[in-house]
Amino acid sequence: MKSAFNQIPLHFADRHKTAFSTPDGDKYEFNRLCFGLKNSPKAFQSIAQEVLGDLLHNGALVYIDDIILFTKTIDEHFELLGRKFKVFTDHKPLAGFLSNKNPSSKILRWKLALEEFNYDIHYIRGSLNSVADHLSRCVNSITIALPDSKDLIMQHEDSVLSTIIQKIDQNDVSPQISNYFINGEGLLCHLSKRPSGSPRPNTTRKQVCFPHCLKAKILESVHSEYGGHLKFFKTYHRLSENFFWQNMYKDTKNFVRSCTICLSRKNAFKIPPAPRQPVEQSKEPGEGYFQSFKNHA
Ligand SMILES: [Zn+2]
Repeated sequence: MKSAFNQIPLHFADRHKTAFSTPDGDKYEFNRLCFGLKNSPKAFQSIAQEVLGDLLHNGALVYIDDIILFTKTIDEHFELLGRKFKVFTDHKPLAGFLSNKNPSSKILRWKLALEEFNYDIHYIRGSLNSVADHLSRCVNSITIALPDSKDLIMQHEDSVLSTIIQKIDQNDVSPQISNYFINGEGLLCHLSKRPSGSPRPNTTRKQVCFPHCLKAKILESVHSEYGGHLKFFKTYHRLSENFFWQNMYKDTKNFVRSCTICLSRKNAFKIPPAPRQPVEQSKEPGEGYFQSFKNHA
């Protein structure tokens, strides 16, 4: 129930319906289900019911994020509360968490905090644990208002991308397109490894392929409009976590290099020093000397 509505991703095609602007004129849209939408409670309710599974009407009822347990006896109630569950993790050392005989103080505190639950920890390969990845890596429910799915449909109008889409449709297995696939939302995506200098080196990321005609728009969005004019590598990292096009690295570098705002900021710190002038030597003992300073604004 933690983060409730925000755990549910919104379909690309519907995100623009949640758009709002702030008094500063910035525009945002939600990537995840938010409060205030007419059908948010209904969507969450149906997921909560699904999670309860065979317990629904069978000892448990749920109303949005409130779960009520009803049983005939106190013992049954405790049985329900203490029902054993499985925890799946792709963090292998965690699988030995329960059997660790000499835990550090930090682990011990966690063990105590979790003692009231009845659970087993099972290891699962990272590549099979995509649901957990999804939940743990989409913490921010508001992010950059990216071009919406209408724009992404333009994948089909892009000569390079539409050729790849056609090849995939025809089950072509040539190596040039082996890193491409069509995702659940029907978008052409690309798989690549994160570079060695990035926070999670050599892991695979899924990138939505960006049509040529929208490159400038996304660069503007990620670097300037919502990006706070980050330097090249951070801008590129942010982009490449989600998007892909041929020569994205070079295009991003050129874009950041020629950004007029970044250039003007850079130059702001390079104020030429005022010309130096030798201090006049005193001619008589006790002679006063004054110097006035002026700020270069
Ligand atoms: Zn900039």
